[in-house]
Amino acid sequence: MGVPFLDLKAQFATIRDDVLKAVTRVFDDQAFVLGKYVEAFEKAAAEYLGVKHAIGVSNGSDALLLSLMAAGVKAGDEVIVPAFTFFATAGAVARLNAVPVFCDVLADSFNIDLKSAAAKVTSKTKAIIPVDLYGQCADMEGVLDLAREHNLAVIEDAAQAFGATRNGKQAGTFAHYGCYSFYPTKNLGGAGDGGMVTSNDDVLAERVRLLRNHGEKPRYYNREVGICGRLDALQAVVLHVKLDHLDAWNKRRAEVAAHYNERFKGHKQIKTPPVSAGNSHIYHQYTIRIPDRDRVQGELGAKGIGCGVYYPVSLHLQDCFKQQGGKPGDLPVCEQLCNEVLSLPVFDQMTNAQIDEAADAVIAALE
Ligand SMILES: *Cc1c(COP(=O)(O)O)cnc(C)c1O
Repeated sequence: MGVPFLDLKAQFATIRDDVLKAVTRVFDDQAFVLGKYVEAFEKAAAEYLGVKHAIGVSNGSDALLLSLMAAGVKAGDEVIVPAFTFFATAGAVARLNAVPVFCDVLADSFNIDLKSAAAKVTSKTKAIIPVDLYGQCADMEGVLDLAREHNLAVIEDAAQAFGATRNGKQAGTFAHYGCYSFYPTKNLGGAGDGGMVTSNDDVLAERVRLLRNHGEKPRYYNREVGICGRLDALQAVVLHVKLDHLDAWNKRRAEVAAHYNERFKGHKQIKTPPVSAGNSHIYHQYTIRIPDRDRVQGELGAKGIGCGVYYPVSLHLQDCFKQQGGKPGDLPVCEQLCNEVLSLPVFDQMTNAQIDEAADAVIAALE
């Protein structure tokens, strides 16, 4: 049969009428950028997350860029970033001509290793960006302790974790800034690019609002140089419709993960993804660690089972960061994970038969 990695058409079929109605309203109004629909979504998102400010922006990468700008990160400053993450986490730092200083991660949670991070702090360090990778929070209490000790800005990259919690608190609401992506494949995905920055601090939030629209206030009076980083109304209304379904969808994703865990139980070659104490996981990805990963990936592909490698290259070894002198062996856990991880299909409309078919294929490939 085959199993798709992600089935957004199946999800859309469940909300089609509501989405089309909402989109039609925006067309009827011909009001496409920021405005009342964006404000309504921002309010709903802030309420959902239990955070004071939610600011709709152009995408998750710009959410990170705007947070760094608002935090005052400048050329030559250092920002600590785990090397096992999506490129944008570090790319945002480099775009400001600041230096992403890479640290290692923990093999079980895939999230930031605080010992490694602490060892990278220098007098130039201005900020740290923990990532809630695959849909569960990093050790945010530990990150905040480290940051207080060294007076660092903390930007939580929650692009993969909208709706995940840690000790009852929402992902992306722990730090000075939380950053989200609404890229269509994310748990809360729009109909194109979109993103959001959250903050509980009035002053920090106001800076992001200013910078997302060229630093202008009032209109055509520019206080500082910002970017064109606004959220579209079409995205806002689609996301607003989807937000009402998010808890149910995330719950189903967790059920899918539990079903995989059950199927892989006792299988010595398959390491299933543990959930850290205090966390609820929303499984943006369900990622196992296996030997012989590339061969297994090939065999799944031949059977039509969607799967992916997030991520094949540790950021300290990417060509574009070569001038920083990263070498193989510098961040052993990141490098090991790049060779071992395989993400399996997980989506809210997935059937038990599809989970079993994907699980069977993984087990068969390792026999
Ligand atoms: C998707 C993602 C981003 C970037 O989001 P875009 O909306 O694609 O710009 C940043 N960080 C992480 C961890 C992501 O997964």
